[in-house]
Amino acid sequence: MLNETTKSQNAQGFARLDAENFPQFEKGWVWLVGAGPGAPGLMSLLAYHAMQNCDVVVYDALVNPDILNWVRAGTELEYAGKRGGRPSHTQTDISLRLIELAKEGKRVLRLKGGDPFMFGRGGEESQTLAKHGVLFRIVPGISSGIGGLAYAGIPATHRDTNHAVIFLTGHDATGKMPANVNWPAVAMAAPVIVMYMAVKNLGEIATALMAGGRPADNPVTLVSNASMPHQQVHSTTLAEAGEFVKLKEPPTPAIVVVGHASDWREILDWYKAELKENKIG
Ligand code: SAH
Repeated sequence: MLNETTKSQNAQGFARLDAENFPQFEKGWVWLVGAGPGAPGLMSLLAYHAMQNCDVVVYDALVNPDILNWVRAGTELEYAGKRGGRPSHTQTDISLRLIELAKEGKRVLRLKGGDPFMFGRGGEESQTLAKHGVLFRIVPGISSGIGGLAYAGIPATHRDTNHAVIFLTGHDATGKMPANVNWPAVAMAAPVIVMYMAVKNLGEIATALMAGGRPADNPVTLVSNASMPHQQVHSTTLAEAGEFVKLKEPPTPAIVVVGHASDWREILDWYKAELKENKIG
């Protein structure tokens, strides 16, 4: 049972959260904020606080536009995305723009999909900020490779399936399958492999994993637009993955999971059609 104090605090809703000790968004600072995989409810309270207290949001292509409605009236919105794997703004341009805005004395919110430090170049951007003496804060987000999988009923770890999980990118800076990943080691190191940006090179990656000893019938699951109303899940095997993506052209962004973690979908696939309208999800 709630006592009286707790009840009255709860009645104040977000006002009570504002009274908590959120860090102040100071002028001239850049906050690199993770927006989560898509569903607005998956943003953190600190991310919401930042949206309410910034002067400008510099956002990526992967950010769900609905999330941008959470700013105060009058907040500037700047797009800094990349399209089709090709930079429409170079990474240097984006970092320099953040510096420029911060030096104008603005409170700059750099909004990125998922988590800013998980294949999101948050490391590079904050490195450049540090080099130019611009103060910054990192607000972590729910990465699509964990939270996005949950929306497909796939636990990233489960004691009956895997005690280890590997996260990797299927794309290097030039768009090719990364040569500096030790594919034979990856093939055998963990029962579950979660891959970002891996759809385009999936055939080549599957071949490398099989050459490293991964069974050809190992399940491959693609979760497209995870956590969004138009989420889709496709299943294939390592042997067929290359042909599968060529024929079916699964929508992107997509997370690719290799291994038996996806077997749990049979009983854990909770995000069914009738739940997709759930506004708090
Ligand atoms: N920082 C992000 C990843 C950026 S890299 C994060 O932590 O999630 C871009 C890749 O993320 C995409 O190619 C795709 O593999 C994955 N991704 C991002 N959002 C996604 C979503 N809603 N559904 C499926 N995959 C997603």
